[in-house]
Amino acid sequence: MSTQFLPSGNVSRIKESATIAVSQRARALKAKGRTVIDLGAGEPDFATPEFIRDAAKRALDEGATKYTAVEGIPRLREAIAQYVNSQTPGRTPVEPSEVMVTTGSKQALFNACFSLFGQGDEVLVPTPAWTSYYEMVELARATCVPVLGDPAAGFKVTVDSLRAASTARTRGVMLNSPSNPTGAVYSAEELGAILALAEDRGWWVISDEIYRRIAYDGPATGSLQVARTRERLVLVDGVAKAFAMTGWRVGWSVAPLAVTKAMSALQSHTTSNATTMAQHATVAALVDTVQSDAAVTRMVAEYHARRDAALQLLHSEPGLRIVRPDGAFYLYLDVTATNPEAGDAGTDFATRLLDEAGVAIVPGAAFGTPGWVRISYAARVDDVVEGVRRAIDLWRSSRRA
Ligand code: GLU
Repeated sequence: MSTQFLPSGNVSRIKESATIAVSQRARALKAKGRTVIDLGAGEPDFATPEFIRDAAKRALDEGATKYTAVEGIPRLREAIAQYVNSQTPGRTPVEPSEVMVTTGSKQALFNACFSLFGQGDEVLVPTPAWTSYYEMVELARATCVPVLGDPAAGFKVTVDSLRAASTARTRGVMLNSPSNPTGAVYSAEELGAILALAEDRGWWVISDEIYRRIAYDGPATGSLQVARTRERLVLVDGVAKAFAMTGWRVGWSVAPLAVTKAMSALQSHTTSNATTMAQHATVAALVDTVQSDAAVTRMVAEYHARRDAALQLLHSEPGLRIVRPDGAFYLYLDVTATNPEAGDAGTDFATRLLDEAGVAIVPGAAFGTPGWVRISYAARVDDVVEGVRRAIDLWRSSRRA
């Protein structure tokens, strides 16, 4: 007898993460023997630097196999506070008590959404945005208000567009610079102006800075560098992207003490502490700045070269609209012309690119802009070039306008 399963109201409207689904699909096709160029999930292809792996091995041998405090080991909370404070000299320092270690930055974002927002609240989501923001806000039973940026300005939102989308029920805004999926980077002035608006209006700001270290025209500005106050600011970051540590699942939040306490209570009932040995490895990543800066610089230089190789190909196709990425490792392409009548040309394009040309990418519908697709260039340069070439070929052969 088959089991009748009706999902609860908590999850009935949740869609599987498209970024995760694409990489699962690529993996499944590979397992069946198909050659797939995977430019889907944003996952660095580099190995985690050796000194970080060594720190994990040492920690294991020294017995780092037990529970820790929910908020993380004190040494790591101190290291994170120090890491943040070193970027914001002269500003009120972050205290370790305001830091909470999480299972990936994804959990920090979820903790923040769930703790700050609820029924009746509206949350502004600059769009396109990473797919999970929309779902996390909905899981908190709040209402997502997508605020579409201007493609000609890298889809970045402005004070005016946020103000226009706000109502008396607006309670918060999700920021992400450098942006996933566009790679756009907000300048200090742009970010400062948005934070000032949020401060004036009493909105919570959740600032996802997981790509901050991956920027090509000098360091990207972090919210703590330009915020007048951090009374209503939750900074989210982690080691996954910059240090090539996706599978270690270590992220963190920096938030006012009361918010940190609420998030810690929540986390104490869900996952408790992030993996102990991975926390110790993260201490090494943050404290040994000589080795980690060298590793990050080397990886960012490689992403830079891959971006330029991809852009060179894309620029040979003047009719194809793209956002020029200044950070992160994504390219965002407008493929509406391949199926102008369809509401979702991007999904159709991504499906065909995988089925017909063996290249996995993510449809822009996942990020709130259905005519677009996202290509990750966190892959070997040969794969990036070949994948982009095949995407251009498909665009050329199917464009109608
Ligand atoms: N954040 C990455 C992406 O957008 C990794 C997958 C995920 O967690 O969404 O592809």
